[in-house]
Amino acid sequence: MAKPVRAGSGPLPRLRVQPTESELMSAPNKDYDPVQVTPLNADAVAAMRDEAIAAIEAATSLADLKSARLAHAGDRSPLALANREIGALPPYARKEAGQRVGRARGAVSQALTRRTAELQGEQEERMLAEETVDVTLPYDRDPRGARHPLTTLQERIGDVFVAMGWEVAEGPEAEAGWLNFDALNIGKDHPARSMQDTMFIEPEDAGVVLRTHTSPVQARSMLSRELPIYVICPGRTYRTDELDATHSPVFHQVEGLAVDKGLTMAHLKGTLDHFATAMFGEGITTRFRPSYFPFTEPSAEVDLVCFVCRGLEPEVAACRTCRGEGWIEWGGCGMVNPRVLVAAGVDPDTYSGFAFGMGVERTLMFRHRVKDMRDMVEGDVRFALPFGMEL
Ligand SMILES: [Zn+2]
Repeated sequence: MAKPVRAGSGPLPRLRVQPTESELMSAPNKDYDPVQVTPLNADAVAAMRDEAIAAIEAATSLADLKSARLAHAGDRSPLALANREIGALPPYARKEAGQRVGRARGAVSQALTRRTAELQGEQEERMLAEETVDVTLPYDRDPRGARHPLTTLQERIGDVFVAMGWEVAEGPEAEAGWLNFDALNIGKDHPARSMQDTMFIEPEDAGVVLRTHTSPVQARSMLSRELPIYVICPGRTYRTDELDATHSPVFHQVEGLAVDKGLTMAHLKGTLDHFATAMFGEGITTRFRPSYFPFTEPSAEVDLVCFVCRGLEPEVAACRTCRGEGWIEWGGCGMVNPRVLVAAGVDPDTYSGFAFGMGVERTLMFRHRVKDMRDMVEGDVRFALPFGMEL
């Protein structure tokens, strides 16, 4: 409510000793004794300063300190209000009062700066202490998985061939029957096409099968790549076997194909000897035994030097791994049948090729003495972990 306006121009009323807050911003006034202005006398200013500093020193947290700052150094704090009152003093008194209040505010400001630094330091130390990591604690209570040894072995095989300049090729697991059979010279009456071996995707006459070997990737490579071709194709394959210690309906093969001018079985033998040594160690080489596959001519079974007895007397006689043979069957190979080259559009008069294929499970069993195929299928991490992590 507005005060009633005083009529006339009588003397101004004396300033009260304790002005209300709204009256602190008085107009300049030259006719009263500044000593009576309580907010500006030395004792009052010192009291305000001491109270402010005490509150600042008493703050035990940055939040407390903020409250103290608002109360004692903010726009509505006693010292700020006193500062505004200076303008109401007679001119001769302003300088001294101004200095007094200014020094008090400076002291409060310094106290604030000092206490802020102290509390921030304490807070940082507390955070460091609270967030200390005990490196001796178990860091991970959730058991980690492991990459499957079949996966890491396929990658390692790929590395062996990539180091020789070959490429890794892949193809679909649901494959066109033509690529799985016909392109590989496996005719309509071939026993491998029967329902006993092959898983067909319904409807049967759609001509799509779960690939029974990785060989269709060879046909795909010849159809899609520029000559010469050097590809290694590791992958998953399917047949209608029951799962037992040595068979699985889902298994892995690694297949190699080279097509170039002037390739012979000597190149094939050298490649497989290098592959065998890279897999099983120095001194483990291969031998070929005549065999038959529709997609190679001539064809051979690939045997490895027995990695247990190494074919050496007298151990070989008692060796149960190779049953006294000194050799272990590893896979199949041969020179690419010219009919397969023609089916893939390659001129067999100019180019020749060799191909080979091995079971990845069989290779893993030999390499790591795994006895039972089922361990590789069941996905138990206790089987995979001892093979370690390979990236
Ligand atoms: Zn042996």
